[in-house]
Amino acid sequence: MNDTKKATIAVRKGIEADKHHGAVVPPLYLSTTYSFADFNTKRAYDYGRSGNPTRDILAETLAELEGGAKGIVTATGMAAVHLVTQLLSSQDTLVIPHDCYGGSYRLFTSLEKRGLLKLKVVNFTLDKSFDDIEQIKPKLIWIETPSNPLLRLTDIAKVVATAKKCGALVAADNTFLSPALQNPIEFGVDVVVHSTTKYINGHSDVVGGAVIARTQELGDELAWWANNIGITGAPFDSYLTLRGIRTLNVRIKQHEQNAFLIAEYLERSPFVKSVYYPGLESHPQHQLAKQQQRGFGGMVSFDIKGDINDAARFLTNCKHFTLAESLGGVESLICHPATMTHAGMDPQARLEAGVGDTLIRISVGIEDIEDLLADLERNFSETRPGEDKGQPVAEPKPVKADEQNNSSAAFCFSPAHVALW
Ligand SMILES: *Cc1c(COP(=O)(O)O)cnc(C)c1O
Repeated sequence: MNDTKKATIAVRKGIEADKHHGAVVPPLYLSTTYSFADFNTKRAYDYGRSGNPTRDILAETLAELEGGAKGIVTATGMAAVHLVTQLLSSQDTLVIPHDCYGGSYRLFTSLEKRGLLKLKVVNFTLDKSFDDIEQIKPKLIWIETPSNPLLRLTDIAKVVATAKKCGALVAADNTFLSPALQNPIEFGVDVVVHSTTKYINGHSDVVGGAVIARTQELGDELAWWANNIGITGAPFDSYLTLRGIRTLNVRIKQHEQNAFLIAEYLERSPFVKSVYYPGLESHPQHQLAKQQQRGFGGMVSFDIKGDINDAARFLTNCKHFTLAESLGGVESLICHPATMTHAGMDPQARLEAGVGDTLIRISVGIEDIEDLLADLERNFSETRPGEDKGQPVAEPKPVKADEQNNSSAAFCFSPAHVALW
């Protein structure tokens, strides 16, 4: 067992590995093909889809950070999710959470529709779901904890224990916390999935993904599929993501410290109805968060007082929070899940999931906390959510027929289009 600490692995993996020139930072290899050493004598690499030295350093770093035997770097987070589904055949059942990432939900339900797998959607916060899983005997159980945007937790050890009883594999999407704050493999999870687009790269400038397998055997099978279907990540993206990882631990600490102070501030605010952050004692799974996480992360959601107009005023009156989807970058982002990330969701299902019109999600950045708190304070005192102000400034816009054909609206082919960022 390697006892080097995570922050050291993140900073040093691949450093000083260059044999030719002693480059301290591992070089970026762009070459798509590699010469044979001799007739019928291959070197370590032959072709870029199958293997690339820059990508491999990133994969090894992620595997070590997650405590897995093998890592595979993919072109996007969704490619990583797709890769894991290659473990299933048409008679196998996949169990997924009702509130998993919308892109994953859309992929799983689409694969089910084409008969490529069987699907069972459950709510992991209900005990009954665990009995159901034992009955179904799935091949694979998918979890994502904490969830988006309400930061609900899934008990990883409990899922693994249930999986053991019925011989299932467990895959965990660990994007929201990153390997700096949670390592599902320590609890017996078989496969960890990341959208490295988020905290791992951390600078909102690379889309990428990764799969980390607990065992070499499973890792080899997944790596074979990744090469087979051609979804391995690009060398330059890998280079940038590796640069992002160097500062993962310090970034996450600052994200978390800022998020905690913002959550506490929001909880005290007279303009806020409820705050969702696992670090608050008021969070119903605060104890579970302390058991299975090493920190509470940088995502905070809250319900603002008033209605959608109060939410709209607040969201468009920020100075240090950018109105945008996605998360995990150094800059603070703020979004309105009901009209942005979760807009494609059936309205009834959205309300049942707790994603109402007054819900606001913040990806807390690493700016100076005094500026962030001052901006929230100014915003609340100017917009005074929940107080009667006469004319509304924003009505929810009905989608016009001609808008339904363009850009993201064109992807809304089913209500399964939810929570895409
Ligand atoms: C963003 C995200 C994904 C998809 O990743 P992409 O890099 O956008 O393809 C998957 N899961 C979670 C939890 C995410 O936040």
